[in-house]
Amino acid sequence: MNERTKLDELIVLSRYYGNDPQYVLLGGGNTSAKEGDVMYVKASGHALGTISADGFVRMSLKKLANIWTKTYPADDSVREDEVLRDMMDCRRPGETARPSVEALLHALIPYTYVVHLHPAMVNGLTCGQCGQAAVAILFPDALWIPLVKPGYILADVVRRAMSEYATDHDGLVPKIIFLQNHGIFVGADTPDEIHGIYEHVMKTLAGHVVRRPNFSEVTIKMNDIGQIFDGLRRFAGADADIRMVMNVELQTKLQDKETFYSISSAFTPDHIVYSGFKPLWIEDSVFSLADPAGEIARSCGELTEKEGVRPKVVCVQGRGVFAFGENALALFLDTVKVSVFTETFGGARFMDDAMIDFIRTWEVEKYRSSVLK
Ligand SMILES: [Zn+2]
Repeated sequence: MNERTKLDELIVLSRYYGNDPQYVLLGGGNTSAKEGDVMYVKASGHALGTISADGFVRMSLKKLANIWTKTYPADDSVREDEVLRDMMDCRRPGETARPSVEALLHALIPYTYVVHLHPAMVNGLTCGQCGQAAVAILFPDALWIPLVKPGYILADVVRRAMSEYATDHDGLVPKIIFLQNHGIFVGADTPDEIHGIYEHVMKTLAGHVVRRPNFSEVTIKMNDIGQIFDGLRRFAGADADIRMVMNVELQTKLQDKETFYSISSAFTPDHIVYSGFKPLWIEDSVFSLADPAGEIARSCGELTEKEGVRPKVVCVQGRGVFAFGENALALFLDTVKVSVFTETFGGARFMDDAMIDFIRTWEVEKYRSSVLK
């Protein structure tokens, strides 16, 4: 009988996490395996849950390591373009797919298997005001990386932090890396060890969280809902795919501007890409106007004009959340979950404005959001 190859193992490992909703949402997360000079890393535009061999790009680790001998320009878009071009050149002959933007980071972690995910419970920690302090207590061997620009800068910061970690820990390489406002990287030499680490992380967090999101359904005022759909269709067109949701958690969050705060911005790059950098908030005073639908359509138009992008999520005080498309809704519900989990870790800490702007203009992310619609 043939032994399973590293790539076979990687496919099984990727599907395992990709099919478990507590770990993976939509196309989120990526994985890799190393074999000699080759690293198999997830290509952009593939979902872990259904991935097969053609979802991975083979890259040369030696070539990837050479990237660190180069100096790149400070300008964000010039630098990221150049790094991307160099990364494409690190692919093995015959490879045509685009590697995940996080491939550089995968290459830096010298363990055979690397599984990078954005679970809501983990992000309660990475997006909590006291996340770093909590990691020091709950996961003392893990590495914490503060909020930095994704892509080359993130990989460079991790590279430096790992070498500092090695100096402090007798040459050891961390197996768990928490990225503020982003997610977690786990590296190990066997799939079993990866499972053991993820189980440990999730069990520890589950035993620690003070509250879990309550998504039980609630009754809604149908009359107002009709007005809202009407307004959103006037804005986005009669055949717009509009999803509505209201539940116990949202009922609390949508009470007023203050309770809304903890879901009013973006926690991680994925949230920006799929559900927009911030939801549009509409006060319930709109229902006392002569034409609530017209006013809602006008608010959507006003935001679009101001920001240059259409809102993907509209939150109406006391009524519910309305999202344009399934993905926008899924990621916004993830925002709500993360927000609830941050309550255990000092409350919500969103990405800062500079970082949100960076993601919004980042070409690589634009590419990703266009292939993963
Ligand atoms: Zn990520």
